[in-house]
Amino acid sequence: MRIKKFTCYHCGAPKVNHYENPYIVCDYCGFMIDVDYAAGLQVWNHSAEHTNKYLEMKRNFETNSAKYLKQKNKEAYWQEQYNYWDFYYIHYPEYLPPSVPKGEKYKLFIKAAADMAVEAMSNSSSQRSDNYNKAYQSLVYYQKGNKNFVNYISFLLMMQAYLELQEQGFRIVYDNPAYKIMNELLPEKFQLKMKLSQIAQTWIPYLEDKEADDFLEKYDLKQEYADIEEPQRYQIICEDCKSELLVPKGALVCICRHCRHQNILKKTANCLNCGFENELPQNWNNIITCSACNTQFRVVLPLFG
Ligand SMILES: [Zn+2]
Ligand SMILES: [Zn+2]
Ligand SMILES: [Zn+2]
Repeated sequence: MRIKKFTCYHCGAPKVNHYENPYIVCDYCGFMIDVDYAAGLQVWNHSAEHTNKYLEMKRNFETNSAKYLKQKNKEAYWQEQYNYWDFYYIHYPEYLPPSVPKGEKYKLFIKAAADMAVEAMSNSSSQRSDNYNKAYQSLVYYQKGNKNFVNYISFLLMMQAYLELQEQGFRIVYDNPAYKIMNELLPEKFQLKMKLSQIAQTWIPYLEDKEADDFLEKYDLKQEYADIEEPQRYQIICEDCKSELLVPKGALVCICRHCRHQNILKKTANCLNCGFENELPQNWNNIITCSACNTQFRVVLPLFG
């Protein structure tokens, strides 16, 4: 079968199951591997009505936020941000990282987003945001065959300023122990990939083919394809929502694509040398050491990798 080539950096397995959400989750160990820009675009384009509803709500949130910002009303601003993010992920559940479980952690995740926004209230203007605004206003557009395009050089300059601005925001989040939960739920690497993916979604239609290609390549958003043997699969029932799920043989964890529950399938791995059944250590890695014979072996067999 032909698949988009994503390899799990945690266990080494390829992505084998069909997916619709932009976040790519390993079918074997449940780790978040990557972000698929094209899948994100599909969600966005799926229904114009649904997306317009979102844009309309977003405008309301922005109007209110601007008002509270002007009044320096932190409480109301915080609540507005909280409501916005909560709305966003309910409206687009596909955009919620599967690493965010339901319940308490979801609330903490949304709360962190609102906290960060409030923190940014006081330093909303900086050299980098000025640079970004300037680069954005300097975008040059042109028409070709009834279509609007953006000049590629001006676009790349805007991208650079955008990423520098994001980097500044990341330091506020990921260097602050108060937002420790973000490292667990949405590591910096994925946050960056998600931002890039969103940018690509917005701007690819305004780039000529060759330039769109160059952009996707430059920012590592391009996907390769590979042929692999179809893995054997078996069915499980999600412990939480009772949906039927197909998992590839040898999988250890299955994150339910309906409810994000982590179904633990296996807590042990058999040594390839002596057959001893080893308990998986808490933060297990691809290769563990057998406690019976001391050889190192791979937890997920490289059969598909
Ligand atoms: Zn994995
Ligand atoms: Zn479920
Ligand atoms: Zn052994």
